Amino acid sequence: MTAVAGPAIKQQLVDSLPSAIRHYIDGEHVDSVDGATIAVTDPVGHEQYCTLAAGGSADISKAVAAARRAFVDGPWAGLSARRRSNTLNAIANAIESRADTLAEFETFDTGLPISQAHGLAARAAENFRYFAEVCGSIHEDSFRSPAQIGYSIRRPKGVAGLITPWNVPFMLATWKLAPCLAAGCTVVLKPAELSPLTASLLPEIMEEAGVPQGVFNIVHGIGEDAGAALVSHPDVPVISFTGETTTGKIIMRSAAEHLKGLSMELGGKSPVVVFADADVPAALDSALFGVFSLNGERCTAGSRVLVERSLYDEFVTMLGQRAAKIRIGDPSDPATQLGALISTEHYARVMSYIDSGIEEGARLVTGGTRPPHLETGNYLAATVFADVRPDMRIFQEEIFGPVVCVTPFDDEGDAIRLANDTRYGLAAYIWTNDLRRGHRVAHRIDAGMLWLNSHNVRDLRTPFGGVKASGLGREGGQHSVDFYTETSIVHVALGDTHVPRFGAE
Ligand code: NAD
Repeated sequence: MTAVAGPAIKQQLVDSLPSAIRHYIDGEHVDSVDGATIAVTDPVGHEQYCTLAAGGSADISKAVAAARRAFVDGPWAGLSARRRSNTLNAIANAIESRADTLAEFETFDTGLPISQAHGLAARAAENFRYFAEVCGSIHEDSFRSPAQIGYSIRRPKGVAGLITPWNVPFMLATWKLAPCLAAGCTVVLKPAELSPLTASLLPEIMEEAGVPQGVFNIVHGIGEDAGAALVSHPDVPVISFTGETTTGKIIMRSAAEHLKGLSMELGGKSPVVVFADADVPAALDSALFGVFSLNGERCTAGSRVLVERSLYDEFVTMLGQRAAKIRIGDPSDPATQLGALISTEHYARVMSYIDSGIEEGARLVTGGTRPPHLETGNYLAATVFADVRPDMRIFQEEIFGPVVCVTPFDDEGDAIRLANDTRYGLAAYIWTNDLRRGHRVAHRIDAGMLWLNSHNVRDLRTPFGGVKASGLGREGGQHSVDFYTETSIVHVALGDTHVPRFGAE
């Protein structure tokens, strides 16, 4: 299949979709124990394209039991680094050989523009290639003293529960799966119920790559049932969750009962700070791409643009003019830059923020409505609000759509204060040609990931995660290895052991 728009190609894609997506447990595609299903619709036609098995605690119990058996009795946890690395590379190959289908499925299911979905499929393979290398570099320390030597051993933690959101679902699932498998854990994945399509290809990918039976399992279904059961299952010692901050809090409460290890990648409201001395064309390109790519449904979106007052009017005008020209439409058209939002409920929620911004007195520069040529589908024109005050909801709350707020600042201190004036702290972007100031500002903005005169490009070795309400813990590189492995220390005496002789005569 190729990424060309047109009714015939689209029909070919629709014909290739599964009519039912089932759980994948212990190497078998199975229905829910109670037979429950939910309907899955697409964001453009709003039509049900398949039924999804809706799992609950009985399905989670089966999947966890399979993953536990594979962990304890199977070969996976004890494989040599080289063999595990080979399997991860084989998974990357299997993803690459399906890259077009993965991109087309993702676009159909989520409304993401196809050109961007292709990049995400490539990145998914890259996640496995990178962690295939990491397998071979997981190291253990030794600590020597005259009397004894201690050496640390890293062991996989066991069955990992991975819970993923509906935005960029395949790429995000691989971002968790690759390190989890690299560490030797076995898995139960709970994909988001709104976009399960690409995850339905994971079983054949894992089988083709030779992942042993039971190592990889999927239970579909809604979060409050399948997700909650996974979090509360006593045989799942670690949960890696990506999703909303409110869901993260619920998960933490439930996980506390079993003292589980948690990685929490949550929401964001990231600032883009543009000083008047910046490379303005680069800052403008980055601000536009940062909030309008991936339909604005992006955790690291630069959704608040803070501009030094002397540049402010000019920047707002340029941002509005460029945003108005963003090509919005059919996500499967390679020329589309902004597609359709994930669901009618999410669309209504994003639209409610447009109303809120107007009611609270922000200036709507462009967008804010459905483009006239797109009568159906969850389409919202790229939207720019200016003169946004920090007390407005659109400044404080994550909208998760193609909406950007612009606010002026007076000096460095003001910029930092505004940047930090939300409960979130995921990412931040700083544009200035005064590098001393750029570093100073970077060191004072509360965010887990900062880019200075640089665009949102990540090196997979670097720590990923947020501060404040944006998350807990870090993933990426060594951080992921630390999360999925337990370190123990073995102490060994090098000579005779002299122990105080309690109770001896
Ligand atoms: P969500 O929290 O509604 O759902 C995420 C996942 O959690 C889904 O699989 C859902 O079924 C499941 N879930 C829901 N309730 C649950 C519960 N009680 N117990 C267990 N699981 C439950 O989030 P969403 O709407 O799918 O995703 C959008 C959010 O994700 C945004 O806030 C976005 O910023 C965030 N996000 C963060 C990152 C990051 O890396 N920080 C990346 C992508 C998305």
